Amino acid sequence: MGRKVCRDCGEDKPAEEFYVDRTAADGRRGNCKSCQKAYVRKRYDENPVQNGDRRAIAARYRERHPEAVRAQNIANLRKRRVQMRQTVQDLLGNCCARCGTTENLQLDHMREDGAEHRARLNNNHDLMLREAIASIQSGEGRYQLLCQPHNLEKHWEHKRAEAI
Ligand SMILES: [Zn+2]
Ligand SMILES: [Zn+2]
Repeated sequence: MGRKVCRDCGEDKPAEEFYVDRTAADGRRGNCKSCQKAYVRKRYDENPVQNGDRRAIAARYRERHPEAVRAQNIANLRKRRVQMRQTVQDLLGNCCARCGTTENLQLDHMREDGAEHRARLNNNHDLMLREAIASIQSGEGRYQLLCQPHNLEKHWEHKRAEAI
């Protein structure tokens, strides 16, 4: 047997282009290999649960519940940010570098490059925190914790120094 017409796409193809099917009269499937592959793929996409494909199930869920997925993503981001902030504080000793209080702590850019830092990272707090953690861990000495009043005090000292 040399050639066969595919019942799906109607193309005339060599017999090897059809999967072997011992139950078929001529020993080959009625549709060609590419049509059969497309059919299997389509069925797989349509019935992810039946096929046990967890990724397809997740994709379907995302498609059907975009607002729930978005809310979950935002919650995850927030959680990660809180964790990163805590990591920064832990690494810096959890107290003001000037008075030792543990209240109202703020992250201080010791080299006064906070504005530059924010601008460079497009105000992306997650990236800023990640950079801060890496910097503190490598001992660069760029960051310290200051309580709100002392951060303000330092700010005015800096302004005064600039004026002189
Ligand atoms: Zn075909
Ligand atoms: Zn203080």
